[in-house]
Parts: sequence; structure tokens; C-alpha cells
Amino acid sequence: MTTSLRGFRDILPPESELFAQIEAAAREVFGLYGYQEARIPTLEQKELFVKSTGDTTDIVEKEMYAFTDGGGREVAMRPEGTPGVVRAYIQNNLGQTGRNGKFFYIGNMFRAERPQAGRYREFTQIGAEYIGNPAPAADAESISMLVRLLEKAGVGGCSVVINSLGCAECRKAYREVLLGFLRGQAGKLCEPCRGRIERNPLRALDCKTDGPWLAQEAPKRTLCPNCEAHFSATQRLLGAAGVAYEVNTSLVRGLDYYTGTVFEVRSGALGSQDAVCGGGRYDDLVRSMGGPAAPAIGWAVGLDRMAMLLKDRPAPDKAPKTFVIAAAKEAGDRTFALMTALRAAGISSDFSNFELSLKSQMRSSGKSGAAFALIIGEDELKAGTVAIKPLKQQGEQFTVPAADAPAKLKELLNAGNNL
Ligand code: ATP
Ligand code: MG
Repeated sequence: MTTSLRGFRDILPPESELFAQIEAAAREVFGLYGYQEARIPTLEQKELFVKSTGDTTDIVEKEMYAFTDGGGREVAMRPEGTPGVVRAYIQNNLGQTGRNGKFFYIGNMFRAERPQAGRYREFTQIGAEYIGNPAPAADAESISMLVRLLEKAGVGGCSVVINSLGCAECRKAYREVLLGFLRGQAGKLCEPCRGRIERNPLRALDCKTDGPWLAQEAPKRTLCPNCEAHFSATQRLLGAAGVAYEVNTSLVRGLDYYTGTVFEVRSGALGSQDAVCGGGRYDDLVRSMGGPAAPAIGWAVGLDRMAMLLKDRPAPDKAPKTFVIAAAKEAGDRTFALMTALRAAGISSDFSNFELSLKSQMRSSGKSGAAFALIIGEDELKAGTVAIKPLKQQGEQFTVPAADAPAKLKELLNAGNNL
């Protein structure tokens, strides 16, 4: 048989239910903060990611599903959502016509990395972008919304780590200091870092191999007075919003477009792939991609990793409330109509195969987890009635006129606290 590709997985019940629950929690929180959904393409011009995510990042350099399509175009499966949202913002002139510059997306991303627990080649991100507000309140709102979303979804035990990379001036000054240090340490660096320190020395701090010791030994970043003020105002507002966080001046994040505030959310419960969310400011990206000067901030959480943190939660009860059974050969049509009427009245209903024996259909009703079996046999067919048999509580089977069945079931289900 043909199997799925390595790193690509099926998300099936009950995990798919968990995904839906998390998405519903996210949509509710986005609504509270004035974010609206952007549904953007999965496939884009490769150049979009090379120019925005950056050609020295792991994502673009090593992990992108990029290919030449039938028409000779260089295209790529999106590895992240921000470039597409920014492209859509510019292409549709949303700086002029958009409401408040707040967008969220929920979608699958593709990265050809080595698959392991919590790391797949296709995964889902929920992301938020706030384009057009340079103030520290935008940073604090974005981060506190993220924390609210994790809480609302039931993900606890996470820690928020923040840093500021500073403006272009701060980064330029730090780049020189860091580059000097890294040149002196070249012998200790891993191969890829050695290859890219001249092009992008900050990336070494984000390297999975060298990051940890560099965090201890490399010179610390400094901020200009403006960036320092922005960063402390952000922290003050986070405090006011009741968000617990920790500052780590070595946090750089692996994408090229970040400026100023950057952050990550981690969970010890995830083991080695401990990052749940990454984000930060990208004040220059919109302009550099050909749009207006529009400072922005955003983040993306990994839905697969959130679901891992929630996997021990009891799965929601998706059993139908009712199960219909045709106990006579000619009763199938009437039973099918009954099931249709129940669903139209908002009562979930299921069936198996009307052609099987009463005993077999009863067995299926037991397995279904339904609260009531509704049976139409020869007698009921003649009398225009339905027999209702409680499956989860004590009680005798009784009969009601078929037309009254939906109302009666509603009453019973409400009385039984929906069972
Ligand atoms: P990591 O350090 O784990 O590689 P990252 O910095 O590459 O993460 P981002 O690009 O910031 O991750 O993406 C944000 C979130 O998306 C991550 O925190 C994670 O939850 C999720 N994510 C990223 N890559 C994968 C993947 N290959 N499989 C599953 N989830 C992923
Ligand atoms: Mg990664």
C-alpha cells in the first residue's frame, strides 16, 4: 500500500477534535482583541520567503519545499505565515483600506526538517499580525493576547521569554561587537555557523548547537535610549496586564526580519522541542517588501505542540444523542425520515444498517454511546409511532406519536442534563 510521506501525518479523532477545540478558543480570543482572519495561499513565489524570512535562515536555506512548477516559476510551499500576510497587506493596499491592521491566520506550514516528536514536515500554526502600530502597547497587547489564548485553550505551565534586538542602529553596533567575538572563536563554532557568521553573526546565537554556550560567553547586546525606553514600557504594560515573563538578552529568534521586541513561549513538558510560540516586531519588513512604512508585530504558535500538551485531556463526548433502528423490513424509509427530523430539530442522531437484524442494530446503538434508541417496527409503522428506549438510564421503553418524537427527546435530554 502507499503510505504517507515521512514527517507528514494524519490528524485523526480524538486529536482532530482537540485541534478544533484549540482553534475555537483562538478564534474567540482573537475576536476579543479585534483581530480578523486572513486566509492566504499555501504556495507563493519562492522569492517572497527568500526576501522576507531571509536567505541565511535555516528555514530558507535548508528547510523549504521549493520547486519549479510546470510553467517554469520558482515557487515554495509556505514555511511560515508572516511573509504571506505582509504580501497580502501590500498587494491589497490594506494600509489604506484595512480596518485596524490586525490579522490572524490558521494554516498548515511546510518545512523539510528532520522529523521527530513535535517536529513534522507539515504542521499547523495559529498566527497573529498587528501591522501599523509602533507603540509599546502594541507589543504588550500582542504578547498578552498570546498568553490569554494559551490559557483559554487550557495550555498551562508555559514560560514567556522576551528580549529586544533594538533598532537598526543598535543591531549594527552589536553586530560589529559580536562579529569580532565570533571571529576569535571560529574554531569552537559548528560548521554552518562558521559559514554564515560574516553574513549574519546574530544567527549563531539562535543555533541549536552553539546557542547555549554563546548565551554564556558572547558579549551582551546593548540598546540605545529609545529602544531601552520602548522595551521598558513594554515590560511595564505586560506587568499591568498581569503577564509573567522573563528577560533573556540572548534570545534572538531565527528569522531575519525581527527588530525590537522578540519573544518565545516554552513548555518544559514538551521535552527537547520545547518552543510553543515565537514572535516579535518587524518594523522594517513591510517597507522592505515594497509597502508603506508600517511597523508591525506578530507571532505564531504551533498547534501540533499545543495539542501535545493537551493530549491527556479527556476527549470531548461526540456520541450522538439518539440512534434510530428500523425493526421491520418496510420501516427503513420512515426511520430515515425520523432521523432527518431529529437532526433538523438540533438533536444528533445516527444509524447503522436498516437491513440488519434488530439485535445487530441494538448492538450498534449500544456502541454508539447514544442516550436513546428510537425503534420503528411493524406495530409502530402501523400506528405512526416511535418506540423510545433509554440506553444510559433506568427506564422502560415507551411509545410516542412519530411527529412528537423530536419534542419529546428534547424534553428528555434537557431533563437528563443532556446526558
Ligand atoms: P524550533 O526552535 O522548535 O525549530 P522555530 O523557531 O523554528 O521552532 P517558529 O518558526 O518560530 O519556530 O514557529 C513558531 C512555532 O511553530 C514553534 O514554536 C513551534 O511550536 C511550531 N513549529 C515550528 N516548526 C515546527 C515543526 N517542524 N513541526 C511542528 N511545529 C513546528
Ligand atoms: Mg525551526
